[in-house]
Amino acid sequence: MTALLLDETIEKYEQDLRELLMAFFPGEKFCYEEKPEAGLFLWGKAGGLTLFRRETGEETGTGAEAENRAETGTGTGAEGRLIPAGSRSLCLTGQRREDKSLIKTALYSLLAELTGESLPWGTLTGIRPVKLAEMLLAEGNTAKEAEALLQERYLTSREKASLAVEIAERERRLLAGFPYRKGFSLYVGIPFCPTTCLYCSFTSYPISKWRDRAWEYLEDLALELQQVRRMQETEGSLLYGKPLQTIYVGGGTPTSLDEAQLRKLLSEITGTFDLSGLREFTVEAGRPDSITEGKLAALREFSVDRISINPQTMNQKTLDLIGRRHTVEDVKEAFAAARAAGFDNINMDMIVGLPKEDLEDVAHTLSEIRVLGPDSLTVHALAVKRAARLNTEGNAWAHLARAGKAEAAEMTALSEQTAEALGLKPYYLYRQKNMAGNQENVGYAAEGKENLYNILMMEELHTVVGCGAGASTKAVVENEDPGLYGGNAFRVERFENIKNVAEYLPRIQELLEKKEKFLKKA
Ligand code: SF4
Repeated sequence: MTALLLDETIEKYEQDLRELLMAFFPGEKFCYEEKPEAGLFLWGKAGGLTLFRRETGEETGTGAEAENRAETGTGTGAEGRLIPAGSRSLCLTGQRREDKSLIKTALYSLLAELTGESLPWGTLTGIRPVKLAEMLLAEGNTAKEAEALLQERYLTSREKASLAVEIAERERRLLAGFPYRKGFSLYVGIPFCPTTCLYCSFTSYPISKWRDRAWEYLEDLALELQQVRRMQETEGSLLYGKPLQTIYVGGGTPTSLDEAQLRKLLSEITGTFDLSGLREFTVEAGRPDSITEGKLAALREFSVDRISINPQTMNQKTLDLIGRRHTVEDVKEAFAAARAAGFDNINMDMIVGLPKEDLEDVAHTLSEIRVLGPDSLTVHALAVKRAARLNTEGNAWAHLARAGKAEAAEMTALSEQTAEALGLKPYYLYRQKNMAGNQENVGYAAEGKENLYNILMMEELHTVVGCGAGASTKAVVENEDPGLYGGNAFRVERFENIKNVAEYLPRIQELLEKKEKFLKKA
């Protein structure tokens, strides 16, 4: 347990400090309270940050007492003594961006000294490090200069700085000449899966329990799609006159619908919109145990041009452990069937840092994927989110070994090498909280097989309208007066659909009304 005790000047950066502490001490709990019972205790006020370690025993003092002890650096005797572990003085400027950076850098250097470790992404704790690389390039820096600035300002490793800049440059090339600002993307969420994976934090319900009501779900979804179409023709709406440029059907696992339901979904999507401006149509086939020849044929008939078949791991013991209930052989068969059906753009997702997997297991997964030869590979570092069973049933899974920082780094490097050997280049990247080894998620693809939706959505470059339970809409809106928005030319506004499918169904009219208001005013 680590405690934070911050004065009001620094308190507003509590989230950033907490995230940095979490990156150094994964799985640790943090409290922000007056009675710290911590093994590590961070105390800060405008003049500086001080880190203390508790030597032994329980601390029972009040916040004020703790503060005094912190200030003097003296303990209260052998039991629970606070040992100074370093301090940094701060010279705050009153400018939020600068101060945040100063405080994070001070804490980072304290933690690096204390642990003897560094983090691959340095002080960066946000989701989109590529955005920073892109900004540095847009300011006129060369790739080399942008890499150096990322290392200098944010203490990132040379490898990660170079990866972020490489991806930013590739994204620029991929989007050059594509009028994405003039159009929008559609995300359709199908919140059903064959079973729930141990680490899942998405909106997902077992299809066996929802098979019959899935028809009802598709009817409601159709109402949302029609509304989006109407908004394209409604003056004053965010979507007015904008062509639909990319479609992404995800979830859950869309192919957990049966074939007739999948056909209904695809005919609703393709029958509702004018697809003359469409650049790509992706469906996540996801779980191999949900794929049949009939469903693959339906996807082809409706001109779906990219699918994902996601093993996550090619080790049967891990598939069993994480509750996927399919075999390694199922993955191979589904992949072969998709190729036979004519799909020439197949993505595979895998995860590094799965419970009880070591470097050898990851190497095995990668060698099996290499044999299959997908057109793109997305490598995720396991991120244990709050809603995942791995977290909510924490005690039941606490015994499972997970990769440490060094091993996760080796796993990531190995997947990079495999992607390279397959001729796949990194083209989008994002990070999450609590990622194994403080790594990242990277999408690699063969030239011409990159998924534009992933870039547009991840870098928040244009509006993505989400339909279905748990889907969210992100409106990217031009600021008429950027001065009001810190100089930003665009801002992002969000609308969240109802998550729970049992509530989504009866409340669809209420949802439609709220969403229409949002799309008209955003
Ligand atoms: S396949 Fe994906 S959405 Fe479905 S349960 Fe597993 S992690 Fe969740």
